[in-house]
Amino acid sequence: MESQIQKLHQLLVDKKISCKSLIQEKLNLLKKNTHNTVNSLLDDLALELAVKVDAKIASGETIGLLEGIPFGVKDVFMVQGTRTTASSELLRNYTSAYTATAIQKLMDAGAIPIVKENCDSFGHGSSSENTVFGAVKNATDPNLVAGGSSGGSAVNVAKDYTVFSIGGDTGGSVRQPAGYNKVYGLKPTYGRISRYGLMAYASSTDCVGPLAKSIEDIGILLNTMSGQDPKDQTTYTSEPISIDSIDNADPVTSVGYFKNFIENDAIDPTIKSEFIEVIEKLKSEGIEVKELDFFDSETLVSTYYTLAMGETASNLSRLDGTNYGNRIEAESLKETYALTRSENFSEETKRRIVGGNQVLSQGFSDEIYLKALAIRDQIKENFEKDFKEVDIIISPVTPIKPPIIGSSLKDPLAMYLSDAYTVGFSLGQLPTLTIPQGTVTGLQITAAKDRDEVILQFSNFLKDVI
Ligand code: GLN
Repeated sequence: MESQIQKLHQLLVDKKISCKSLIQEKLNLLKKNTHNTVNSLLDDLALELAVKVDAKIASGETIGLLEGIPFGVKDVFMVQGTRTTASSELLRNYTSAYTATAIQKLMDAGAIPIVKENCDSFGHGSSSENTVFGAVKNATDPNLVAGGSSGGSAVNVAKDYTVFSIGGDTGGSVRQPAGYNKVYGLKPTYGRISRYGLMAYASSTDCVGPLAKSIEDIGILLNTMSGQDPKDQTTYTSEPISIDSIDNADPVTSVGYFKNFIENDAIDPTIKSEFIEVIEKLKSEGIEVKELDFFDSETLVSTYYTLAMGETASNLSRLDGTNYGNRIEAESLKETYALTRSENFSEETKRRIVGGNQVLSQGFSDEIYLKALAIRDQIKENFEKDFKEVDIIISPVTPIKPPIIGSSLKDPLAMYLSDAYTVGFSLGQLPTLTIPQGTVTGLQITAAKDRDEVILQFSNFLKDVI
């Protein structure tokens, strides 16, 4: 599918539709929807901005490509004056004091935020069931989970309730729901887009990522949101991607895949056979496909969760009802903290805080946390070696198909293991894109750091090949 953004832009410029009617149509769809994708609608703000865009068009002024285009925002991003709940009880009534850099850049380009989207609370989850707003339902089959944690964002894009949505990806939260709902979802190179105003989960892997229906749109959004930001010291300046180059790139000649991802009992047989078929098709196109060695899934998952839990325990320590959150008063200050946090955090979030404080605590941190950091360094080195041999690594997005709603919450370990194919690339801080092709839950296309452009080019090539 070609760029939705360009298509709507042309309709606005040609006065075939008004911005107000476009926004109203999407708001109506969101309001009526039964997939639980909405935490709050930004109707007043959105309609006010739409009227301004219409006035500009009516007066003959030129409008930018993103001007008037409606989009969704995962409810972990600050948008000044709007509720930002992280789908939690604790922040149910919290109002953002400022706007996240990535969202501000989109708004500066004229895009219109219309909805704060349901997700797993604080990004903790792989199904969008860990939320006080009700489990998000998959776009293709409402009995199945939407994936997570950016489940509401993926469903909104898949159902055309938003033209694009902005999610957050710490260990797969954009890529996995994109795969479960058959849309594109990008986790850019770590630091390419500022994290300022994205509620911190695990700061060393948190990334802002767009979900959309075309590769061109992913490129446009990446360009708009990228750039160095003094408010996030991990950001860097990147070259904008040439959207035209997506179509006319030099062909990729070598592709790798991790054989232990595929030769594994945990992978669904359909996903495995579809992935093998992709490899055969690439070979028949004259592309060299190499088998690569990688860490086993259990090492990847335990390294990721050790670090993610440690970081989230630290990041969420500020949420004690004093400056943020629904405070529950008790006899003493200490009891007030305890009551506020134990009543207002979900079971999954508490599990992670307890686990995280354990791995960081004196007497355990050398054995657990520092060891995880050392393995993360080895994972990064492994990737550096791989990308001397191949341009692109392909992998399935998930080992399993989306489970039925309600079935996976009972077994947190199984849920953690379902992240086996996404978390490694997060630890490597690499750019990686889910495309809605190849297997039932999509295909993940990864390149070396800062080679986000090559991913988009190769994904475009794959459109007609697989
Ligand atoms: N499912 C993973 C987790 O729960 C990833 C979530 C995310 O990327 N926010 O940690």
